[in-house]
Amino acid sequence: MSNVFKLIEKDEFEEIAYGYDKKTGLKSIVAIHDTTLGPAFGGTRMMLYDNEEEALKDCLKLARAMTYKNAAANINFGGGKAVIIADSKTQKDEALLRAYGRFIDGLAGRFIAGVDVGTDENDMVIVQQETDHVTALPTYYGGAGSTSGATAYGVYQGMKKAAEIVFDNPNLADKSVSIQGAGNIGYRLADFLTQEGAEVYITDIDESALQKASENLDVKIVEPESIYELDVDIFAPCALGAILNDETIPKLKCELIAGSANNQLKDVEKHSEMLKKRNIVYGVDYILSAGGVINNSQQYNPCGYNKEAAYQKVAKIGDTMKKVIEIAQSNDITTCKAAKMFAEDRLELSKRLNKWYIKAERGIKV
Ligand code: NAD
Repeated sequence: MSNVFKLIEKDEFEEIAYGYDKKTGLKSIVAIHDTTLGPAFGGTRMMLYDNEEEALKDCLKLARAMTYKNAAANINFGGGKAVIIADSKTQKDEALLRAYGRFIDGLAGRFIAGVDVGTDENDMVIVQQETDHVTALPTYYGGAGSTSGATAYGVYQGMKKAAEIVFDNPNLADKSVSIQGAGNIGYRLADFLTQEGAEVYITDIDESALQKASENLDVKIVEPESIYELDVDIFAPCALGAILNDETIPKLKCELIAGSANNQLKDVEKHSEMLKKRNIVYGVDYILSAGGVINNSQQYNPCGYNKEAAYQKVAKIGDTMKKVIEIAQSNDITTCKAAKMFAEDRLELSKRLNKWYIKAERGIKV
């Protein structure tokens, strides 16, 4: 691509690194967006793209989002992301992952690699053979293990605190909740909610996921198309992105949206305004779904990973969610704008605390 620096300039990236390995055919990109808060921390997405430009654009978009997610999650890590251009089903093997590990090692800790679409914790065990700058390792490797449990717990805690504002009560026992997606997160969220006594409706396009939910949990199964129209208090999107759009928003009857799916709003500005006009409080996706990244970051706790301590930190998502809704309501802005302000405030504060920035502000050469 000839205009890479234009892209770097537009969203103020710090670095884009390209990794290539002739023997394994590794083609990888790491985008480091912002390291104000610490080393860039983000997942490794392995998939095929139509072309290299698409891979770069995806990597940049995801890396930038991680800066906001990590800042709002109150962890001392910056934003970054990696992509490996390969088919995870047919091209992933030890040699490729180790070549990727050597590429990450060359970045000398400026980027810490985790998992994303196409990679899992077992892959990170292989990557770790080449570099220490890797997270999302299994617990038997000193890591935090699978992210799903922590993510679902964070969504649940965030939903309760949001309910405290929307319904004047964090107790969900008398609330009805619809969940889109009965996968890793949706299933666990339904488990938390039914244990509390909430009335839970759940849907999925995968019969086996629904069977597992209906066999083990006290939930009502509904058809995928009817999920938007249900007369419920809370809607929890835990499947796909872009499901809040021109067609679906007018159908909603809930007062609160709180789920894990990434990029739920098809057009962030337009559709967050639409929700606000309809008096539906939107629990911002990257605030609510930060449990996994918070949990993984605890691998770097100087005292070592401790699940109880990590989950206490994950539970703080509730306080962040509440604060973001309060900012939105007192400024009459959308929760998306409020979340951005919240994350940017933390970044700005850290810049001021950082001696480098303080010196630079005073005009001292550093
Ligand atoms: P998953 O693949 O385990 O579950 C998603 C479920 O949604 C699947 O069972 C799938 O069949 C179902 N689904 C797909 N299309 C659907 C449709 N049209 N209607 C109803 N159901 C549909 O994924 P997950 O790990 O549970 O993650 C759920 C969402 O949360 C994803 O958007 C993911 O990116 C996001 N997220 C997950 C994590 C994590 O730690 N797993 C962290 C942050 C964000």
